[in-house]
Amino acid sequence: MPSKKVIEPQGDEAIIEAFNNYLSTNNKRKTPERYHILDKVLSFPKMFTIENLKVAMNSDESFPVSKSTLYYTVDLLVEANILRRVNTGGQALAYERVDHVKSIHLKCEVCGKTKLVKDTNFMAYMNARRFAAFTTSYYNLTVYGTCNDCARRLKREQREKNSINAKKQSNKRTK
Ligand SMILES: [Zn+2]
Repeated sequence: MPSKKVIEPQGDEAIIEAFNNYLSTNNKRKTPERYHILDKVLSFPKMFTIENLKVAMNSDESFPVSKSTLYYTVDLLVEANILRRVNTGGQALAYERVDHVKSIHLKCEVCGKTKLVKDTNFMAYMNARRFAAFTTSYYNLTVYGTCNDCARRLKREQREKNSINAKKQSNKRTK
């Protein structure tokens, strides 16, 4: 087993560079196929399964790849600390980007959309944080709230409701 160096590539270009380095230092071939798979992997905004990846690859007929190649390449990406395996409790193993795990997820409680943000101060704090009798492998922080789109819509709806109520009130008074 090669020693696993902890890398934290930020952004797609840095990840491709990290994969490049990983393949070089481990004497693995830099096939266009592997980079093409990485490209597809980076296009997933959330976690994905090998099946999802296969579908995404199949939509691109110029690059037919077998499922075993996908498994093998995804394993390399896990080994390179670009992806990590997620046990979702379902039958299929899912994967997600390590840099996504280390982002703060802002989740809107109204529409359910999630936005990823980076907070370097927070990251530095979490990376330095040690817990007694415990070794951290990753963390996952979700902040719940309301996105701007929903906040605006809710405000508008409230205004409309208020004006309907005001009309009802004035109708009552004139009767
Ligand atoms: Zn929302």
